[in-house]
Amino acid sequence: MTRLRLATVWLGGCSGCHMSFLDIDEWLIDLAGQVDVVYSPFADIKEYPHDVDVVLVEGAIANEEHLTTIRTVREHSKLLISFGDCAVTGNVTALRNPLGSAEPVLQRCYVELVDLHPQIPQEPGIVPPILDKVTPVHYVVPVDIYLPGCPPSATRIREALEPLLKGEKPQLTGRELIKF
Ligand code: SF4
Repeated sequence: MTRLRLATVWLGGCSGCHMSFLDIDEWLIDLAGQVDVVYSPFADIKEYPHDVDVVLVEGAIANEEHLTTIRTVREHSKLLISFGDCAVTGNVTALRNPLGSAEPVLQRCYVELVDLHPQIPQEPGIVPPILDKVTPVHYVVPVDIYLPGCPPSATRIREALEPLLKGEKPQLTGRELIKF
């Protein structure tokens, strides 16, 4: 049987969705027998591979690096799952949107709350330029499956992945399993 090539990606999120993935507990062992994890913060692989079957994308699009990453991820993945509320709606990451631009966020983080050498990073490559507006993943690239929740419960994540292992599309019913 062909092993599924699975990736997980961490964009503008708190990593809680990835922690919930780990809460699958012992089913992770079954999963490991059926997939190759080809890219993930868990695996520390530097470059996104070219032939990914399924990718779980945590987090919203909040900076220019996220924009580049999600376009690469979309180009090289057959099925993209918007993983958690930050990816699906913007959620917590998008709370800064009413401020209207990136400037007040930069001022608050790098100037107002800093005691030593307050300064907004200017040097290219130090901090990816943040976007004026945070957007959900599907505003930038097409999404195949939405997995809401903050975070999605481990049960819900398993419910999404199990059918995919059999080559079937998940039917994500059971709203009571959505956790906010
Ligand atoms: Fe964190 Fe919730 Fe966003 Fe997941 S959806 S990255 S748990 S804030």
